[in-house]
Amino acid sequence: MSITSLARPEIQALQAYDAAEQVDDSIRLNANESPAVSSAGQFRRPLNRYPEIRPQRLQATLSSRFACASDQLLVTRGSSEAIDLIIRSFCRAQVDSILTPSPSFSMYRHYAELQGANIIEVATLAECDFAMDVDAMLSACTELTKVIFVCSPNNPTGTPLPCPDLLRLLTERSDKSVVVVDEAYIEFSEQPSAIDFLGEYPNLLVLRTLSKALAFAGARCGAVAGARDVIELLSAVQAPYALATPVVECVEDALAGEQLTVAAAAVQEVLKERPRLMTAIADYDFVSKVWPSDANFFLIRSADAAAVMEHCKVHKVLLRHFGGELSDCIRITVGSQSDNNALLSALNSFRKD
Ligand code: PMP
Repeated sequence: MSITSLARPEIQALQAYDAAEQVDDSIRLNANESPAVSSAGQFRRPLNRYPEIRPQRLQATLSSRFACASDQLLVTRGSSEAIDLIIRSFCRAQVDSILTPSPSFSMYRHYAELQGANIIEVATLAECDFAMDVDAMLSACTELTKVIFVCSPNNPTGTPLPCPDLLRLLTERSDKSVVVVDEAYIEFSEQPSAIDFLGEYPNLLVLRTLSKALAFAGARCGAVAGARDVIELLSAVQAPYALATPVVECVEDALAGEQLTVAAAAVQEVLKERPRLMTAIADYDFVSKVWPSDANFFLIRSADAAAVMEHCKVHKVLLRHFGGELSDCIRITVGSQSDNNALLSALNSFRKD
């Protein structure tokens, strides 16, 4: 059975948009474009022409970077777009559900709400550093649970999902749910990528992004990797010409050039700074807990969370606060050494200003 049979029937039947043909050395009188070459910036592909329907070279570069075949990967506008495409493709409004651990990245809920999909949230084990409760997740699934999101390392807790747990989810939900592993922060972790399991598990999808370790958030570029038939289905749902020429060319150049060295050095700096910052922050008497993290951020608990946030904001350092079960927690992104020193100096004056 192909996992695409879990998709909404109208999406299974959807034909990819029939875009005007693109042949490099031919005169294009088939797309109602202007013949005038734009003066706004110099690009290999002139801006009076539509971008490639799907950016072929970028797709090849990203698939070799993420270690899958080119036709197992779809380039998306950030991995956020992939979350939207997956939910829209698999979940019938008011009928099907997504399942996500809680707390986790809030965009899974956001896009599920947009689609009218039901949302099943399964609490993580707060007393075990927010480990995902795979037993509870499996028992919470119903026949209509089409998509399971696991973020590893998880945002905002920094917790990785151990490989045996992932394999259990994939096996026990094979033929029933798509399991999406969101690896936005994988480069900061020692865990291997789940992409290695693509061949064995047709219900696995892996999300990657250029926004974090690759330091390219402004370009809005990410990818989803999975079985060929699922990638083809998601591609039919994605807008034609989704990635703009300036973005494609800028990312192509970045991935072929110095940006990779700069980004790799930034990852090393974050990995060096993370324990230093965590140790320093654990020392404050208004911080009662610092959770371990595999990502470029970590979570702390403080009974004064709101006041700490406000104090840091006055000192021009922004932190992230969440409501609900995390209302006494703050998520801190590990920045450069000087950013982190600015945070520590702001915290040094908490309750002393
Ligand atoms: N997944 C996770 C877990 C994230 O934290 C984020 C961004 N905060 C994203 C996906 C989306 O990233 P982007 O759309 O920039 O690729």
